[in-house]
Amino acid sequence: MIIVVKPGASDTQVHEIIDVLEKNELKAHVSEGAERLIIGVIGDKSRLAPGSLEVLSGVEKIVPIMESYKLASRQFRPEGTSFNVKDLTIGGKELVMMAGPCAVESEEQVEAVASKMVACGVKVLRGGAYKPRTSPYAFQGLEKEGLKILRRVADRYGLLVISEITSENDIEYASNYLDIIQIGARNAQNFRLLSAVGKSGIPVMLKRGIAETIDEWLGSAEYIMSEGNYHIMMCERGIRTFETATRSTLDISAVPVLKGKTHLPVIVDPSHAAGKAQYVQPLALAAIAAGADGLIIVSEPVQSHLCRQSLQHTAVVRLKIARDDCCLSGIHCHICSCISFNGCRAR
Ligand code: PEP
Ligand code: MN
Repeated sequence: MIIVVKPGASDTQVHEIIDVLEKNELKAHVSEGAERLIIGVIGDKSRLAPGSLEVLSGVEKIVPIMESYKLASRQFRPEGTSFNVKDLTIGGKELVMMAGPCAVESEEQVEAVASKMVACGVKVLRGGAYKPRTSPYAFQGLEKEGLKILRRVADRYGLLVISEITSENDIEYASNYLDIIQIGARNAQNFRLLSAVGKSGIPVMLKRGIAETIDEWLGSAEYIMSEGNYHIMMCERGIRTFETATRSTLDISAVPVLKGKTHLPVIVDPSHAAGKAQYVQPLALAAIAAGADGLIIVSEPVQSHLCRQSLQHTAVVRLKIARDDCCLSGIHCHICSCISFNGCRAR
């Protein structure tokens, strides 16, 4: 359940509510919105004596939340979540563009991509240092060295770093090099990892599991939030269906569905969904039209010999084409004449 606090309630009134919760071994998660203070209550509510919250002078109303996720539900923050990672706002007015290679292979490779990305309005450099591969014999990533390369290159171009972490043992080390932790599709329900990432307090991009329903995916976000880390983006990256023409089926509906169910920002990864470069651009446009807060796009300087999914990689030059095409695509943009990659999105 959530407790909506009366407008203008004093600190003492708010603390009174929190005291009652804590005395009953319930956890209070406070969300301060523009107009309302909301307290999310986590734990066994049957401990509360009937009426014990209703009588408190700071309580305006108590809203039960039927979903198994509470803090991730839209009701917890009706106005939506936006947060800053350094000076980049996620979930704000501007579309957030992230791009970079599938796997970090060398400093030259990352440098070649990053040097071209800045002109495309990309603010976040991606690249896999730890690669969760389907086969144990495939290249597993440069690991620690990969993180160092990402940081060095990103710093040269004023970019932020996002990279996937596959084990809770790597979080502490990685926190020295990255700004956003990516949780990959294969780990979307690795609950120990999710809790550890929650405890770290580092911003997270949570990819959707390959066969995860939207409610299950929000349950994964709840694991992170329940540890006090509210800086989460949901990333739709395609789901497994009977269709084989694309690598996964990009669930565009997930964007508006999430917007209704959760306050968390929504990112779309058209590259891993499509698996083929020629579909990335139309899917990226569809994501913007559907209301996504950002895109993450795989970009390689040249076809990579190490990454076996090389067809999915949009050459950097295609990012530029995508940007120009946005202007021609007929998607209305009220802020400037160029929609996506220069930092403006259709609403
Ligand atoms: C990736 O982003 O490199 C990746 C492995 O993605 P996913 O977890 O969506 O497959
Ligand atoms: Mn990849």
